Amino acid sequence: MSKFYEVRKRDGAARIGILFLPGEKKQTPLMLRVESEEKLEVINAEDSNFKDLSSEETWNVPRGAVLLPEVHPLFTMVKDAPLFVDFFVLSFASNMHNSPKDFARRIIDARNMIPPDVALWVPAIATAENAALLFYMGVDIIDDTNAVIKGYQGIYQVEEGEIRLTELEELPCNCSVCASLSINELRGKDFKERALLLARHNTALLDKEVKKAKERIRAGNLREYVEMKVRSSAFLTAVLRIMDLDEDAYFELRTPIARRECIKANTMESLKRIEVKRFANRVLERYEPPTRRILLILPCSAKKPYSMSPSHTKFIDAIEDYRGHIHELILTSPLSVVPRELEIVYPAAFYDIPVTGYWDAEEREWVSSCLRAYLERNLRSYDTVVAHLSGAYKEICSGVTEDLGIEIVFTCENGEEATSKVALNRLKERIAELCGERKRLSGFEMKTSMIKAMADFQFGIGAGNELVAKKEGERIKITGRYPSYKLSLGGDVLARIVPEYGILSLTLKGARKIMNSLSSYMVQIGDFVPEGSILAPGVVNAGEQIRVNDEVVFVGEKAFGVGRAKMSGWEMVESRRGVAVQVRAVEEV
Ligand SMILES: [Zn+2]
Repeated sequence: MSKFYEVRKRDGAARIGILFLPGEKKQTPLMLRVESEEKLEVINAEDSNFKDLSSEETWNVPRGAVLLPEVHPLFTMVKDAPLFVDFFVLSFASNMHNSPKDFARRIIDARNMIPPDVALWVPAIATAENAALLFYMGVDIIDDTNAVIKGYQGIYQVEEGEIRLTELEELPCNCSVCASLSINELRGKDFKERALLLARHNTALLDKEVKKAKERIRAGNLREYVEMKVRSSAFLTAVLRIMDLDEDAYFELRTPIARRECIKANTMESLKRIEVKRFANRVLERYEPPTRRILLILPCSAKKPYSMSPSHTKFIDAIEDYRGHIHELILTSPLSVVPRELEIVYPAAFYDIPVTGYWDAEEREWVSSCLRAYLERNLRSYDTVVAHLSGAYKEICSGVTEDLGIEIVFTCENGEEATSKVALNRLKERIAELCGERKRLSGFEMKTSMIKAMADFQFGIGAGNELVAKKEGERIKITGRYPSYKLSLGGDVLARIVPEYGILSLTLKGARKIMNSLSSYMVQIGDFVPEGSILAPGVVNAGEQIRVNDEVVFVGEKAFGVGRAKMSGWEMVESRRGVAVQVRAVEEV
């Protein structure tokens, strides 16, 4: 429980928070300075040799060794305050450098062991190179111990590592230290002065990195920054890869369901992102294809949503007259298979990949495995599978269908572009032959299947049918321009698509209509009527499936309403501070 720390914004496991120190507020991620006053007040550890690090006798003490037992509740003594814990210190952190597995494990174990609404301080190891990764893992507080020690060791730190001062020809930095003197002047200083100047540069560099990482957390794209940052070090790259392999559960609980930012899938690690795995799982677990005779597999497009792209406009033109018989599935990396109905869902309309035409083995394996799983689950709903694919897409698809012993109709010859006239004509002819009778897809059917699929995807299978169901005499209407559709029943709006986030949002009437399907997305609150937002202490219980930015329904003795989750369900239950739900609509009951 925390009284003086509050998380204000989350980006995966990374957070921006406010630490209420005596007399002032500090924002986290925070870099504490080894010589600062604030630290001494906070720590109240007279025997700590932190404060003496600037003296020559102690500069080479073992880093982190001053600290206390593993995950120690240090912050228990503040003037005039009762006992409480606002942040924890992970001690002997420098030992973690022996193994990337240990590094990942120790920090994540610590984070798992302590409540979500307290800060975690990992002392003495932060550098400008690793700070973003530390924050990504859930560390809130670092310090400049390492920067100072390195100064005393004659080491000049840079964003991507460190260089011995003796090896530098010029100072590659514009901080106040580096701008004020030349490398020769710096080398000419006596030991203590040189060490202090180097320490000041190293600290300024770390401080700048903290600000950069904070900006990334605010924007919701720290992951992209971390993928970029770890490149400079085999150790840090290994830490990220190990976490992607072994710590799914930890990051799944913390990764938002949607964001406004596009996923930049520029590295091999992007394939392993929670958003990618979650999307693939949900296509299998929370999606039912509409009843159509023919499955048509299409390649993705750079422009999202796909149906707005020039290539998909051509594909749709070619099949227009028979579209009522056809279910469209888009093959893509790294999201693997995207049913047409889900093309505007996050992250299907929110990712970008470098297009080279070359797919590496891991990418092929991942997309193949997802296509295989989709076909195994849904094949019986189709009479025929048609693939309008070329190049790597075609190779992947034929590999999978051969494995499964499925007959498939390919409409692109080898070496032919899917958008070429001849291939498009072939698609048109083959589709006409296979379908026989013309059947266009009505705008209403297309919109309904999209909203239904999105509701299932978001809340679980069943929600979609409940949402679009009507009794005799009732009339369902879908208005608005693609993709900003609005679903209403008898004049009352039930739900609308929010394209900025790729999610479906419910009105009070919509939520009441599908209450049976919302149990996993329900937040139980105390006996009050919330205004604006529901704070964590007001939450009695919350669905475990709830993630940041999920649509939720809240129910209490006095109120019923809908809103957007600002923390995960488990976090709402365990936290004592912070906004749990942003209320959109509420009614008294
Ligand atoms: Zn500098």
